[in-house]
Amino acid sequence: MHIVILGGGIGGLTTALSLHAAGIACKVYEATTEIKPLGVGINVLPHSVRELTELGLLPRLDAIGIRTEELVYATKRGEIIWREPRGTFAGYRWPQFSIHRGDLQMLLFDAVVERMGQDAVVTGHRATAVTQDGARATAHFVDVAGKALPDAGADLVVASDGIHSAIRTQFFPNEGPPVWSKRILWRGTTVAKPFLTGASMMLAGYAWKKWVCYPIRQLESENGEPRQLINWIAELTFDSTDLHAPQDWNRLGKLEDFMPDFEKWNFGWMHVGKMIRDAQAVYEYPMSDRNPAPTWVQGRCVLLGDAAHAMYPIGSNGASQAILDARKLAHALATQPTIESALAAYEAERLPATAKLLELTRAEGPDAVMQRVEERAPGGFDDLEKVLPLAEREAIAARYKLAAGFDMQTLNGKPSLSVIRSTG
Ligand SMILES: Cc1cc2nc3c(=O)[nH]c(=O)nc-3n(C[C@H](O)[C@H](O)[C@H](O)COP(=O)(O)OP(=O)(O)OC[C@H]3O[C@@H](n4cnc5c(N)ncnc54)[C@H](O)[C@@H]3O)c2cc1C
Repeated sequence: MHIVILGGGIGGLTTALSLHAAGIACKVYEATTEIKPLGVGINVLPHSVRELTELGLLPRLDAIGIRTEELVYATKRGEIIWREPRGTFAGYRWPQFSIHRGDLQMLLFDAVVERMGQDAVVTGHRATAVTQDGARATAHFVDVAGKALPDAGADLVVASDGIHSAIRTQFFPNEGPPVWSKRILWRGTTVAKPFLTGASMMLAGYAWKKWVCYPIRQLESENGEPRQLINWIAELTFDSTDLHAPQDWNRLGKLEDFMPDFEKWNFGWMHVGKMIRDAQAVYEYPMSDRNPAPTWVQGRCVLLGDAAHAMYPIGSNGASQAILDARKLAHALATQPTIESALAAYEAERLPATAKLLELTRAEGPDAVMQRVEERAPGGFDDLEKVLPLAEREAIAARYKLAAGFDMQTLNGKPSLSVIRSTG
């Protein structure tokens, strides 16, 4: 069996590593001319860290990321409303990582090259379409100048070509662009001193004005002062339904578009305005997703990662769900009697699971505690218990965990998706 993977992002590279571990030959075709460490921070949840651990990557994750210790919700003044442990600190067998997306992509890329050779990833190949003839699928490509390149034939083509997937458009030509949420995210990284535990992920504010922040890289101390690379997101909601900007992860943002809303936020333990001003670069992203697709499979072509289920970057699902897709697909291909039955098993498990998560990311999530406090005490409070009793805070957190399937016992006891490598 030979598999062609379109897109060398988190999903495509994890698919390559998982197929290789299962003894299935594959090759990745990436549109950009070079795999570069792009993006800012992301979180990888315990269920997907488990999958990367089974691919032998845990020590490398530890070398580049930070084990997330806790999740903290605060008001716009920095008063802490809720805190809960995460990953191994919460009792999961695997950690949660806060990490630079580019570092994770390079980690996966380096592992692919080490294990499968330099030729395993071909760059400068933008897939335009997949055609099929019985049990063969053929991917068609152009280079950066739009010039046609030789085709690649395979028993199966996996389209992991991201939120603007050309192959998803081929599947569903009338779908149109991703759906904008009326929210804009300004994302950046800043070198600063550690805050709270030094491994805390924190959210502050309320529904239409939110600040998210977590460290993603440990740095050398400076003059004896500890330093970290801190990832932050400033989020604003707008009334207009006109799309503000294209969904381009690399589009640079302007401070004047959002700074006035956050400049004066000073928690004592973090000065938000200073954090924004000291940023290395600021990127603007209109928070968008796609409605669930009716199917991810057409003959010998299958969607994976954002191409299958682009979601809001809320609840740390983007990279985590792509990793889970990759592992499930490789497991199904290695254990099912036919490619067709493997694709059916993959779709039957992953499509409904991600559609449910997508619905959750669109609804009010666990950060509802912030909104409740803002509504009830916008000017501040002396006693949080009188504004939002602990029982109510606990109920909000518990409701989300149940719906999102973050059940610790289930994950800790779930059988492995690793397969015994075929020697044939
Ligand atoms: C440059 C970049 C920066 C990002 N930054 C962030 C971030 O800061 N925070 C965040 O939450 N998420 C970010 N994301 C999205 C995040 O990586 C994904 O949501 C998640 O990891 C799912 O991974 P994926 O492999 O499905 O998609 P992606 O990681 O988006 O990877 C898709 C890959 O396919 C390639 N590609 C696209 N079209 C074609 C084509 N036609 N043919 C061949 N290859 C193609 C792309 O160049 C990319 O390498 C970023 C994505 C990209 C591409």
